[in-house]
This record gives sequence, C-alpha cells and structure tokens, in this order.
Amino acid sequence: MTQSPSPPAGRSFAVNSATEHPVQIVGAGVAGCVAAFTALELGYRVAVHEAGPGGPLPPELRSPDLNRATEAPSWWWPGQYLAGKGLGGGSAVNGMVVQAPRQMDEALHWAIDSFDPTPAQPGPLGRRVLDAAGDGLGHVALLSAANGQRRTAADIWLAPTDRLHVGTNTTVTATDVAQMVDQGLPTLIAAGALRSPGLVGAEARPALDHPSVVLRFEVPADLQTLSIDEPVTTVILRWGSCQGVLLERAGADPSNGALILSEMKGHRLDDASIATAFELLVSLGLNPSVSNDPAPVAHACCTLTGVETIAPVVDASTLSELPSVNPMVTVAAHARRETLRLLRYRDVGD
Ligand SMILES: Cc1cc2nc3c(=O)[nH]c(=O)nc-3n(C[C@H](O)[C@H](O)[C@H](O)COP(=O)(O)OP(=O)(O)OC[C@H]3O[C@@H](n4cnc5c(N)ncnc54)[C@H](O)[C@@H]3O)c2cc1C
Repeated sequence: MTQSPSPPAGRSFAVNSATEHPVQIVGAGVAGCVAAFTALELGYRVAVHEAGPGGPLPPELRSPDLNRATEAPSWWWPGQYLAGKGLGGGSAVNGMVVQAPRQMDEALHWAIDSFDPTPAQPGPLGRRVLDAAGDGLGHVALLSAANGQRRTAADIWLAPTDRLHVGTNTTVTATDVAQMVDQGLPTLIAAGALRSPGLVGAEARPALDHPSVVLRFEVPADLQTLSIDEPVTTVILRWGSCQGVLLERAGADPSNGALILSEMKGHRLDDASIATAFELLVSLGLNPSVSNDPAPVAHACCTLTGVETIAPVVDASTLSELPSVNPMVTVAAHARRETLRLLRYRDVGD
C-alpha cells in the first residue's frame, strides 16, 4: 500500500489491526462509502483506503457546475475514461444526476432516499426543451446537491465516528489485498469498475460502456441565463433506452450547449434515436452538430460478472448488466445489498 507523496516502506496492515479496524474497504467512491456506512451500521469497525486526496472538497468540485470539475486535476484518474479519485470517487466529479430505475427494490429506495436529490432549475433553454419534448419524454434533472452545492457519497455516508478510519492518498495494490486476505481481515473491494479487477487478480476484460454521442449547438444570447456555479445539467430526456442529458452550458463559454445522448441498457446507440434528438433541437431553432467525443457520462462496468475473486468486490464491476439509468444510484444500491449479504451474519469479533 503506498501513500503519496512519501510512501512508507513495507507498511503492514497490523497498523490497522483486526480489533481496531476489522473491515478493510478499498476505495472511497460511491460503492466504498455505502459499504463503509453499512458495515458501521452493522456494528463493525471500518478502515477505508482511498488513493485520492481527502480534506474539504475544493470549491471547483463543490460547485454544481459540472464544467468546473475539470479545474481540479488531482481528483481525476488519467486514462481513457473519466473517473473520480478522492473521497466520494465519481460522485466528487460527476454530473450529480440521480435517477430512479423503473423497477425499484428496498436497496434502491434506500439509495434514493439517502441521496435526497434536489431538482435542477432549468433556464429558458431547458424549459423550451421540456416543452418541445412533451409529456413523458422529458423531466427536470434531480441532482445530488444541497443548498446549491454538490453533495458527494462521502458527504452522505462517510460521517466521522471513532469506529471509522479513513486513509487518503493511499493506493492499495494487488499484493496488499492478498495480505489483507491472508491476515484474515474482512475485505471489500470498491476501487471502481476500471481498477477493482486488477486488485483481485482477475484478468482484465473489455469493459461494458454506455455508448454516447454529443449534439453540440450554439445557445442563443437571450437563452444564456445560467450564471457560473449553477447546475448546468437541467433536463433529462428519455425515449426507449436512449437518454439525453441537456447541458445548458457545456464549458466556460455560455454560448456552448450540448445534448449528450447515451444508450443506457443495450450496447448501441441507433441512428433513429440520434435523429429524434437532432430534430427536436432543430425544431427549437438550434443548429446541432453531431460529435463523437467521449461523453462525460461514459461509464464502464460489469468486468467481473461471474468471475471468482480473492476478495469480494462490491462496486459497478460486479453489476450483472449496464444500468438502465445513470449508474450512481444503481451502484449505491448494489453495494448496499452486497455489503449486507457479506457482513450481516459474520461474527464481528470484538
Ligand atoms: C464525468 C462523470 C460524470 C458522471 N455523471 C453521472 C451522473 O450524473 N449520474 C450518475 O448516476 N452517474 C454518473 N457517473 C457515474 C458514477 O459516478 C459512477 O457510476 C460511480 O461513481 C461508480 O461508483 P464506484 O464506487 O463503482 O466507483 P468510483 O466512484 O469511481 O470509486 C472508486 C474509488 O476507488 C478509488 N481507488 C481506485 N483504485 C484504488 C486503489 N488501488 N487504492 C485505493 N483506492 C482506489 C478511486 O480513487 C475512487 O475514489 C459519472 C461518471 C463520470 C466519470
């Protein structure tokens, strides 16, 4: 396990002995925070190891303006996919959209209630899109925010208690995980769909992803009303399994708008869905262009489905399929179910 900036050599998990911190959770993203909360609720002591920074969320991330998140590079993992690195993981950098899947169970209700999302405030552009989309197709986005600011999974589920130890800037390796398991420490892996497989010695598989394209357009001057630090994701459109997320400002320049289209459950985004969204924007006098830039909602998962692992993984990599909606709530509910299943009937030991 390495701690940046100055990694201590040969650190042993005995520091967090079984009696002090029995449950070891790797990763403090959405799944890791839920796992920690659930383990604490069951009476365990918990040690969370997070590779990214801790401390107060920088103002640019606390802002609900998605565009500002890119101003905090230390909170991102570099690579093909955007992924958050720090307390809250993806929820510290993401679009904050909280959506209920069509079929709900107890864990999903629990997750939505915990997020306690607040509705975005569409500007005139968002209201026009909602009107043009008509009933049933569009709705105001619900966001994981409170008092106009981002609310991360760590804010929701990682409240300090004397039974919780959170180590930040601490990158756990596959060897560390093997040692945790050897030492008999209950260990849950929640390092995210892209990194958990490597930690449990599973062969990397191609990740499943929500294919996305972006329709970019120029926002007319009279519709550029969102001020900086307001949520820019205001409206969600749904037709079939295609989703459109409206960004009323897609960057620092208020004249840039975007509709991000993603196939939420299947594995392709068909031309008819793109044409429907394109025509909707044209009907509003906007002049969209189709761009194949990687979309910020892109998210990989399901890489460990059906694979035996050295330690249980409770994050998006063990979902059985791509979620039908933006994944944060699905991941939280999944981590809740898995942590309860794995820890409920274990002997706490102290
Ligand atoms: C830009 C962007 C926008 C998104 N928008 C939305 C949205 O609006 N709504 C929505 O529902 N979903 C959204 N998502 C997806 C959502 O954020 C993820 O589904 C969710 O965060 C996945 O949770 P997780 O716990 O599986 O992984 P993560 O939240 O990624 O957490 C993994 C954590 O593990 C840590 N970690 C990794 N490796 C190690 C290691 N070796 N040692 C220690 N720690 C490690 C990471 O630093 C990270 O903190 C978005 C994602 C991105 C990137």
